Amino acid sequence: MTIKNSNIEHFKDTLQAEGLRLTSQRIAILEDILASEEHRECDDILFSLRSNQISVSRATVYRTLEILEKGGFVRKMNIGDGRFRYENKLPKPHHDHMICLECGRIIEFVDQEIEARQVHLTKQHNFKLVRHIHQLFGICEDCQPAAANKGV
Ligand SMILES: [Zn+2]
Ligand SMILES: [Zn+2]
Repeated sequence: MTIKNSNIEHFKDTLQAEGLRLTSQRIAILEDILASEEHRECDDILFSLRSNQISVSRATVYRTLEILEKGGFVRKMNIGDGRFRYENKLPKPHHDHMICLECGRIIEFVDQEIEARQVHLTKQHNFKLVRHIHQLFGICEDCQPAAANKGV
C-alpha cells in the first residue's frame, strides 16, 4: 500500500519535533497501522511487521506509536487491563467502544442521541466539551453461551 504524500510529510514533521528521523522502519509501522482496522496491542503490531519480514525492535514500535498518537494518526486506547490498544484514526470519524470481558473483542458504535445529550449536558454546566471516551464492558454474542454456563 502507498501512503499519501501529505501523511508522510505530516509524519516527518511530527518525528522532527521529537528529534527523530523518518526511517524506512517507521514508514513500515505507519503502513501497517493504516492497513488495519483493528484495535491492536504493540505486540500485535510488532508481530504483524515481523511476519512481513520487517526487522524492527519492540522499543521502536512503541516509540513510533507514541509519535503517531501525537500526530493524530492513531488513537491509543486504555481499556483498563493495563495493555494499550492502538487503532488507525485517519479514516475513522469519532466512535465509541463495547468491550467483551471474555474474549477482548471490541465493537465500535456511534449513537447520535448520546453524542447530542453529552453536548447538551456539558452546556448546562457551562463546561466546554473537548473530547470523551465511552467504554461499555460486557459479554459479546459469541461468548454469552459459555458465560451463562459459568453463571456470569
Ligand atoms: Zn467475546
Ligand atoms: Zn475503534
